[in-house]
Amino acid sequence: MERRLAPLQALRGRETTHLLIAEIYASVQGESTHAGRPCAFIRTAACNQRCSYCDTAWAFEGGTPMPLPEVVEKALAFGTGLVEITGGEPMLQPLFVPLCRALLDAGAEVLVETGGSHDISVIPAGVRVIVDVKTPGSGEEHANDRGNLARLRPGDELKFVLTSRDDYHWARDLVRREKLHERATVLFSPAWGRINPQDLVAWMLSDRVPARLNLQLHKYVWDPARRGV
Ligand code: SF4
Repeated sequence: MERRLAPLQALRGRETTHLLIAEIYASVQGESTHAGRPCAFIRTAACNQRCSYCDTAWAFEGGTPMPLPEVVEKALAFGTGLVEITGGEPMLQPLFVPLCRALLDAGAEVLVETGGSHDISVIPAGVRVIVDVKTPGSGEEHANDRGNLARLRPGDELKFVLTSRDDYHWARDLVRREKLHERATVLFSPAWGRINPQDLVAWMLSDRVPARLNLQLHKYVWDPARRGV
């Protein structure tokens, strides 16, 4: 674990002023119920997890220390109104909460996507949180903070990235047992190249599972391996 967090050492002495940034760019939102909306993305560097399907592994290392006001200014300059803070794992950043507050204070609509291993109750009201629930096939199921299921607020979303039919059954049963659809929008996302979206739809229809199909829109618009989209 310590090795995974090592990139954050680049912030040493600047933890109260800077964030470690992998990239800031504008695109369309690719996932969640906000898919298709123009959005500015703040992608922080470093992650405490290593999901088997991760498509941003390049953000595990490196990153540029950037002062908080500069991060906010760069994101707002795209003029999208909607800003997502993602990663890596954005909640690892010492200035994660102040960044949320600064964006809200500037009038932005703020989304956060987190890997689900950190307590989301620290996230300021007004931010909409997309919480990953890690399946067995992710290899990071043990990292789930299950307490987050009770911390969801109206407008939050739960995302399951599914690598197999076994993952699907695991997620379906958890949603039913915990009645997660009564607390948040539940997203079922086929891991790219691992399961066929058509199969997932068939399973969802057959089981009448109260979830919403979540496709990674950007991977259909651009080359799936392309960054910054
Ligand atoms: S939590 Fe997200 S960024 Fe981290 S390894 Fe998993 S998919 Fe990749």
